[in-house]
Amino acid sequence: MKVGLIDVDSKMPNLALMKLSTYFKNLGHKTELTSPLFANKYDEIFASKIFTYSEMPILPDNTIIGGPGYSLNSYLDEDTEIMMPNYSLYGCDYAIGFTTRGCNRKCPFCIVSKKEGNFHIVGDIYSFWQGQPRLILLDNSLNTDENHFLMICDQIERNHIKVDFNQGLDIRYLTDAQAIMLASLKLWKQIHFAWDLMSIEKSVRKGIEILNRYHLKYKSMFYILIGYDTTPEEDLYRVEILRGLGVDPFVMPYNKFDRYQKSFARWVNHKAIFKSVEWEDYKYR
Ligand code: SF4
Repeated sequence: MKVGLIDVDSKMPNLALMKLSTYFKNLGHKTELTSPLFANKYDEIFASKIFTYSEMPILPDNTIIGGPGYSLNSYLDEDTEIMMPNYSLYGCDYAIGFTTRGCNRKCPFCIVSKKEGNFHIVGDIYSFWQGQPRLILLDNSLNTDENHFLMICDQIERNHIKVDFNQGLDIRYLTDAQAIMLASLKLWKQIHFAWDLMSIEKSVRKGIEILNRYHLKYKSMFYILIGYDTTPEEDLYRVEILRGLGVDPFVMPYNKFDRYQKSFARWVNHKAIFKSVEWEDYKYR
């Protein structure tokens, strides 16, 4: 049987499609990535859509579609979920996976807890790592459970892997023990945190003090969500507080088409502009 896999909009190799590929290969079938134009050539066809804002292509009626951009209720079945990803599907030379799912926070702008429920542990790096020198962790709130976080970091350190905590860590859970462990790792990308809600300022300040103690401040950056429930004054306040504390802010507009949000994000995220021009002088350019 020939199985076609359609990656609608992923920005990195699609984990669900790589697991489906392994599942069908183990049954002796052929799998390959394909485009909607050639979908009719296959006996079975699967499509994965990650983002809600991307357009859904025209697909044959028998296509099995999944991914959070399609439905919050679409999941891989258990037999497929436990598969080692077939990295060769994308020619991918790094490992990607989750060791936890869900999140205990219920941020109203986020689908994670709606889709995956409360934070729970689903495995460790050995369920998706095959000796690659780099690894992307997709956990949404890995440091919720300190023991699990330290155990995962220990596996990463012992195997000399460069790591990207792709979905970021929660500054509210950061402790000295976690920061000491982070400081011992080879980081592939900056460590991401978020300051989306005005109410967590105290935790952000305390977290930055911890980062500073272990020389992690300059290896970290903070996402700042704007345009959801904050005012422009509160957006500028968060950005300037982070700048003052020596940490990089990165603005995420809730509505990318809104004139103010677009302009504010451009001002903060283009570091040369941010360092040389005040917001009052840049506004709405
Ligand atoms: S803490 Fe992060 S992952 Fe959890 S609900 Fe809020 S935005 Fe989503």
